Amino acid sequence: MAKKQFQAESQRLLDLMINSIYTHKEIFLRELISNASDAIDKLAYRALTDDQVGLSREDFAITLRVDKEHRTLTVSDNGIGMTAGEMEQNLGTIARSGSLQFKKELGEQSEVDIIGQFGVGFYAAFMVADNVSVLSRKYGEEGANLWQSDGADGYEITPCERDAAGTDVILHLKDDSEDEKYSDYLEEYTLRNLVRKYSDYIRYPIQMEVTRTREVEDPEDKEKKTTEEYQQLDTLNSMVPLWQRPKNEVTQEEYDRFYQEKFYDFEKPVLTLHLAAEGAVSFHALLFVPAKAPYDYYTKDYQGGLQLYSSGVMIMEHCGDLLPDYFRFVRGVVDTQDLSLNISREMLQHTRSLKLIAANLQKRIRAELLKLLENDREKYETFWSAFGLQLKYGLAGDFGANKETLRDLMIFWSAKENKYITLNEYVAAMGEEQKYIYYATGENRAHLAQLPQCRQVRDRGYDVLMLTDEVDEFVVQILQNHQDKPFRSITAEDLGLNTADEDKALEETAEKCKPVLEFVKAQLGDRVKEVRLGKNLGDCAVSLVPDGSLSFEMEKYFARVQPENAPKAGRILELNPNHDVFAALQVAMAKEPDKAIKYAELLYDQALLIAGLPLEDPSAYTTLVCSLMN
Ligand code: ADP
Repeated sequence: MAKKQFQAESQRLLDLMINSIYTHKEIFLRELISNASDAIDKLAYRALTDDQVGLSREDFAITLRVDKEHRTLTVSDNGIGMTAGEMEQNLGTIARSGSLQFKKELGEQSEVDIIGQFGVGFYAAFMVADNVSVLSRKYGEEGANLWQSDGADGYEITPCERDAAGTDVILHLKDDSEDEKYSDYLEEYTLRNLVRKYSDYIRYPIQMEVTRTREVEDPEDKEKKTTEEYQQLDTLNSMVPLWQRPKNEVTQEEYDRFYQEKFYDFEKPVLTLHLAAEGAVSFHALLFVPAKAPYDYYTKDYQGGLQLYSSGVMIMEHCGDLLPDYFRFVRGVVDTQDLSLNISREMLQHTRSLKLIAANLQKRIRAELLKLLENDREKYETFWSAFGLQLKYGLAGDFGANKETLRDLMIFWSAKENKYITLNEYVAAMGEEQKYIYYATGENRAHLAQLPQCRQVRDRGYDVLMLTDEVDEFVVQILQNHQDKPFRSITAEDLGLNTADEDKALEETAEKCKPVLEFVKAQLGDRVKEVRLGKNLGDCAVSLVPDGSLSFEMEKYFARVQPENAPKAGRILELNPNHDVFAALQVAMAKEPDKAIKYAELLYDQALLIAGLPLEDPSAYTTLVCSLMN
């Protein structure tokens, strides 16, 4: 038969594909194995109704053979095979998929699911081979045919022989170049890895002939041992994916091992979810929550996403569309037959099925985390220390769009209980008279506990949530309240602790102390917005509180992230009229005005220190302290 040209558009598509559609050359093997598996599916399907086939399920296999000397890799199957006409149709025209045709003939109800529905997979062979031969014998025919092509110049089909039905795809690998070492595809190690990576769950054995050595007795000298080489057929794939097995037949050890091997983690996962869904969309999923955040988790290098399989073949290693960002720590596998694959298995449309699966996964993960929170607090805390921050960012981000989803997953450190509690637990422990959910923000719990306002709140028997992450402030602002109880920072002006009588008494005292307050304000000038008496200072002489526009923690945060033009919180200095220092100030004002000025400065500096804010002028502060000591 004379050499035939590829159809014109085929030629263009071929170039396009070889150069751009597939980003990794190595996937050619996945494509050829998938084709072989499809071909076996077709014959196996036939065998169900046709005794003539004479093959049973165990007889089917895909075989890889390497010939280093001739630089060839052969992928063989004993599937349905192709006639010369089919070869011309299927291999001569890109984008005409024989599989699609077959499926149409069977009708919609057919049980067979066939991976390839669009005809480009086979051409992936030309990414690594400069010459491809396909030797095929169609089931039910006597003769076989050989299709040969170097990709560029079209193809030739010639009659030949083959023992039984099936197909051999023979790749003559390209010469090694600087960028690509094609001869790697002749190595047992590489082929093993590729099969495990992409085709581990193909349901027919993928076999490879390997050479091994063994010790044998020397025929001449029975005492002596020599080694000899022998051939052995190894099965490279594990065939039945763990996630397709019934849940009650898989042990936790198996899940753990699978997770550790597949995701290279030394530790066992804290949570395993094995899901099987049917209905609007059917899929199997095996998901894991790691015990520790990967070292690069909170950097932009981290690659999240689940592995997406279509009927046992991996089509995407990091499918980001299956998980919301706030659950991006979840690792695992999703396998579905419901995806329509477009031009290549790598370019997946954002299909409706994918969205349905994602919504389903999101619900199940949330439910499972809530269960863990409920039933195994210790484990939940392990999880929380790895990914709590992620959930907080999720809650605070997107303008709070996800706050109701994530609210109940939050835990915060309780000053009263000395452990993590949920917001529900906080509210449940509140007495009738407590109006607010109190919280303190800062870097250090011990430090926060010593703040005068914190001690005041605690003295009333109320709990304070200790928030030490930068993002906490945003979390609280997004949440605003929980079960109708508003959040209230312990640095707020009104903590709602005092009775009306107490408030009234304080107002009267303030009136009397007015000259002192005005004196201090005059001295400090614009550095403070207001000087007033503090309501909740206990045994502390002074305190600095923000005026409500911005908290001090926010101020510190902005000072770190945008130091050039960081906004500052308005400062309000609160004095304690019951403290000895207050009396001392009054005395100084009357007798030694110079000293009174120094006292006012000192009190302001102290207030800055307690609030964890930097002194405006540290050396002036030390001079001040020294002058007062002299
Ligand atoms: P796809 O597999 O996506 O349909 P391919 O380009 O990989 O597209 O293959 C085109 C067609 O060639 C297949 O649909 C199938 O009909 C036929 N084919 C490819 N490989 C084989 C094989 N090993 N055995 C039988 N038919 C095959």
